[in-house]
Amino acid sequence: MNIINADLSFRDGLSYGNNPKMVVLHHADAVSCSIEDIHRWHLENGWSGCGYHYFVRKDGTVYIGRDEKAIGAHCLNYNAVSIGICAEGNFNVEAMGEAQYNSLLQLTKSILNKYGISKIYGHFELYSTDCPGNNFPLDRIKKEAAAGENCTSYPGYLIKMNPGLEDDNVKIVQSKLMEKEYDIGRCGADGYFGEKTLEAIEKFQADEGLMVDGVVGGNTWERLILG
Ligand SMILES: [Zn+2]
Repeated sequence: MNIINADLSFRDGLSYGNNPKMVVLHHADAVSCSIEDIHRWHLENGWSGCGYHYFVRKDGTVYIGRDEKAIGAHCLNYNAVSIGICAEGNFNVEAMGEAQYNSLLQLTKSILNKYGISKIYGHFELYSTDCPGNNFPLDRIKKEAAAGENCTSYPGYLIKMNPGLEDDNVKIVQSKLMEKEYDIGRCGADGYFGEKTLEAIEKFQADEGLMVDGVVGGNTWERLILG
């Protein structure tokens, strides 16, 4: 996960003392925009600047908006007790790609861990709005952010090339490979183990000094998923 400090300059200073008890997820309600756009829009609202703590672009890059200790401006009544994360896009009219989803999941999990909290809300669950959109993968992120070690333990069978079969464990392997910046092709983590996934696994195995056979068994799983 690549995190960039956008180094925004905030007007009138910010209020500090944020005490995060939850993560609140938003969309930008714009198919394409940068954190600088959001900062400008929020300044135009008369706010101090970007109201979110983080912004996740479609390519998976994470930008820092407000400092985590600063009180946000993203969810009325919850700004002093939450971390606000915004995803680029309009998820009423489009679906989220895997690169963005993976960063969002990783970022959300790291915040939950850091503060020892577990609650994730979509903005609409706390306020009358359609943010973050109908197609936003809210249920998936809630489930996967909560998933503990059990859900990522080795499934007990060899995962190998089989381009015709969709498999959730292949999806987990592919997501991890992407997270570690291995190229698995333009389809992303689609759950189908094809040529590109095979190449990425072999490259990962070579980099890790594992036996290079392109098959995910216990050792490769352990190193890739739990390592
Ligand atoms: Zn929102």
